[in-house]
Amino acid sequence: MTAAMMKTLFLNPPSFDGFDGGAGSRYQAKREIRSFWYPTWLAQPAALVPRSRLVDAPARGLSLDDVRPLARDYELAILHTSTPSFAADVRVAEALKAENPGLVIGLVGAHVTVSPEASVAASEAIDFVAREEFDFTIREIAEGRPLAEVDGITRKVAGRVVHNPDRAILHDMDSLPFVTEVYKRDLVAEDYFIGYLLHPYMSLYTGRGCKSRCTFCLWPQTIGGHSYRTRSPGHVIAEIAQAKRWFPEVKEFFFDDDTFTDDRPRAEAIARGLGRLGVTWSCNAKANVPFETLKVMRDNGLRLLLVGYESGNQQILHNIKKGMRIEVARRFTEDCHKLGITIHGTFIIGLPGETRETIEETIRFANEIDPHTIQVSLVAPYPGTFLYDQAVENGWLVNGGHDLVQGEGFQIASFSYPHLSQEEMFEALATFYKRFYFRPRKIADITMEMLRSWTMTKRRLREGVEFMHFLNARELPS
Ligand code: SF4
Repeated sequence: MTAAMMKTLFLNPPSFDGFDGGAGSRYQAKREIRSFWYPTWLAQPAALVPRSRLVDAPARGLSLDDVRPLARDYELAILHTSTPSFAADVRVAEALKAENPGLVIGLVGAHVTVSPEASVAASEAIDFVAREEFDFTIREIAEGRPLAEVDGITRKVAGRVVHNPDRAILHDMDSLPFVTEVYKRDLVAEDYFIGYLLHPYMSLYTGRGCKSRCTFCLWPQTIGGHSYRTRSPGHVIAEIAQAKRWFPEVKEFFFDDDTFTDDRPRAEAIARGLGRLGVTWSCNAKANVPFETLKVMRDNGLRLLLVGYESGNQQILHNIKKGMRIEVARRFTEDCHKLGITIHGTFIIGLPGETRETIEETIRFANEIDPHTIQVSLVAPYPGTFLYDQAVENGWLVNGGHDLVQGEGFQIASFSYPHLSQEEMFEALATFYKRFYFRPRKIADITMEMLRSWTMTKRRLREGVEFMHFLNARELPS
């Protein structure tokens, strides 16, 4: 079987300088500070295809000229794409095909799941796109199975676009091999930075899907679905135990499941296993985890939670179906402060119902609950989400929603409301950051953090320079 496998390249294509559009990134954009998520969605099928190679061009700083020659060494290339980077990714596919006309090229990711016909028709260079979860789809293609017999792809036959039947959703999550084995083979842990995680960190999934139905959220509405399909605690612990031995330099493991705390007994079981291993770890959480569960996690190595608060206005949380009450989020945050769990809180400007007053309310809320660090995004109407359809129906999209990022790759506001313009939302983003970070209390916090560690001092100074560049460099497209 192995001998018959096609030689396969998994490529996170080169893009804007510093653009985190990769296969692990939820919101593809250049960040305020240099950030890269691991390309976990590409690493997973790569783990299923022996002799394959995963190349993460943005994180490695590789240009198109660097990756183009690779085309000659492979028979199959799988490129991850996203809505903001699609046009650039197609150009990469064309360059690879020009280098090796025999190379079979497929695109994967949420964008092609939502628009399979347009995606496969975008260029002669693209042979197929793989919709939804594509792990076993790609393995079957690499095994040499005729494209006509592979579920979950859309392909071209004599100039016509043909949809193969959908691929059945994966339930046996323990059947997925460890992605960290591909990280070891092909990636360099030091390439991956996330401002609020220790460096070097390592991220992976312990399950897919999210029970919540937030209207803006891309992954559960396109690939992951709304039931939380999980690996068994033993499978997760075995991977971390091996990764701990293999990557002694890694200071923190991050579980990037949409909402790791959705299944609390399981989260606690995994936490206890991690505690026995003595690793430091972090995860995504909804702001409704009870004190007892937080305590179990904290007592077993949990350092940080990444929490999507989105807004400080209750009506907006209702509008986006967040399923979250402000007072519960407030109590949860107090509990985390009491337990010494660090929080990176994320907020969005421009969600349906946003006004100048609700932006002010959210800035005040963020300052009051005081997460250690924050990320503020502009509302991003990704095709395939409820929010996108709602925006089309209501005429909120600027330029048809085509501009999710501007020339440098920074995110821009794609919405405009009669009472709140695109420019106002754009300006509010910088105001939010300034009012959160330029408070005496926050400056004192960050100074203390720097005084405790020279590594942290160097890192925060570099991030500070990048952050000021971000505040100065953003401009709306004319
Ligand atoms: S809880 Fe988080 S991951 Fe789940 S749908 Fe909402 S935003 Fe997405």
